[in-house]
Parts: sequence; C-alpha cells; structure tokens
Amino acid sequence: MKTDILGVGIDDLTLPEAVEAAGALMAQGGFHYVVTPNPEFILSAKKDEAFRSILNNADLSLPDGIGVVYAAKILGRPLKGRSPGADFAQLLCQHMVQTGEKLFLLGAKPGVAQQAAENLKKAHPGLQICGTHDGYFQEDGPVVEEIRAAEADVVFVCLGAPKQERWMVQNGPDTGAKLAVGLGGCLDVFAGNVQRAPEGWQKAGLEWLYRLIQEPSRIGRMAKLPLILVDALGARLGGK
Ligand code: UDP
Repeated sequence: MKTDILGVGIDDLTLPEAVEAAGALMAQGGFHYVVTPNPEFILSAKKDEAFRSILNNADLSLPDGIGVVYAAKILGRPLKGRSPGADFAQLLCQHMVQTGEKLFLLGAKPGVAQQAAENLKKAHPGLQICGTHDGYFQEDGPVVEEIRAAEADVVFVCLGAPKQERWMVQNGPDTGAKLAVGLGGCLDVFAGNVQRAPEGWQKAGLEWLYRLIQEPSRIGRMAKLPLILVDALGARLGGK
C-alpha cells in the first residue's frame, strides 16, 4: 500500500527495506521500474497527468527529498524517513555484488557515466558494470540495443525528470533489463563532479540548501518547492 502525498503514491520503506523490495521485484522476472519523487516531481505531477500516472504505476516509489517527508507529516501520514536516490543506488550496488547482477549506467554529459562507473567499481569491489552511455542522444533505438547487447540486469537512468521516467516506461521493457531506476543527477555525484552535503547537513534536512550553495542557478527551481508544504497544509485543513 502506497502513501498518497498530494496525488503521488510513495512507498513507506527504510532504505534496506527498499533494496529488499527491489531484489524481490528482480526475482519475479519481467521488467520493473523505480522512481524517486522529490517535491519538484510532486509539483509537476499536479499539472501533468501523464507524468503522475507514470509515477503511480512505478513498482517502487521512494521519497527522495526532505520536502516529501515534511509534506507527509503535515498531511498526517508520516513516512519512516527520506530515501535519497543516491543512497538507494549505493545499497543496490552492494546487493548486485552479492547476486552477480550486471549494471548499465545511462545519462549525464559525455564521460560522466564512465567516471561514475570507475568510482562505483572502486567503492563496490566485484560490481559488474556492463556498459555506460551519455544522456544526450537523439534516438532511443541504438541505446536500447546497446543495453540489451550488454545483457544488463539493472539500468540507472539519469536523464532528469520527467524525461527519465518517460524513457523507462517507453524503452525499459525492450532493454531486457529486470529493473530500471530513475536517479536524476546521481551520475554527477558518483563521478565526483557534484558533492553531496556532509552527513550533518543531511541529518538536519538541509541537503537542499547545500545543493543550492553549490549550484546557485537552481534558485528559480527551488523557490517553488515550499509550495508543496502549502499544498499539504491546504489538503490537511480541507480534510483531504
Ligand atoms: N541529463 C541528460 N540528458 C538530458 C538532460 C539531462 O543526461 O537530456 C542529465 C544531466 O546531465 C544531469 C541529470 O540528467 O546529470 C539531471 O540532473 P538534475 O540535477 O536536473 O536532476 P535532479 O537530480 O534534480 O533530478
């Protein structure tokens, strides 16, 4: 049962529970996809019905931003906590070392996915990365073919939202992979181009502020984020 946060279903799981759930999906066979909604996703989904339904049809939906956790609290449906996509991805890599499953990295500027692959292999000895591709391509077909030929079990799809979610739904089943995970800017983090906030900032729920200091150009995008708290308050007061 997903928790409804302003029209978007969220799985209320700890990170280890989320990885266990991903493992169970892979064991089922067939294709599955994971989304990592943050407040921006929820605001877009409000206006974009197609995006909302892609999010709500995901096999796993993890709350990436502290804003989602706050909104849940305001709505009176508290979640166990935040599940940042980057942390989920790292734990999933550990899981893949144990199962021997193969990972393909898709997205970000040319060269970034290769660097991310090097760093992930160092951090998780034994991890099999069967291929990488940048996220600035014109046609999906050749990329899908490359993933299929590499016999990937899992694909990290890092094209930004909502592009990556649409991509997973349209192309995921044809890649032959068991699981695709939409992870936004994570390859930039894994490649070391963008630093995540120190743990103290993360625990204080201030990762967004650290990111803003690093990338001040995000101010326009971020200024809208408190709106989901306003929406949550409105929904709570309105008895929804
Ligand atoms: N990106 C891409 N192809 C595109 C547009 C974006 O590969 O056509 C990449 C971009 O280089 C970045 C990621 O997608 O690595 C999106 O990052 P953003 O910070 O917007 O995502 P967030 O983490 O906020 O979801």
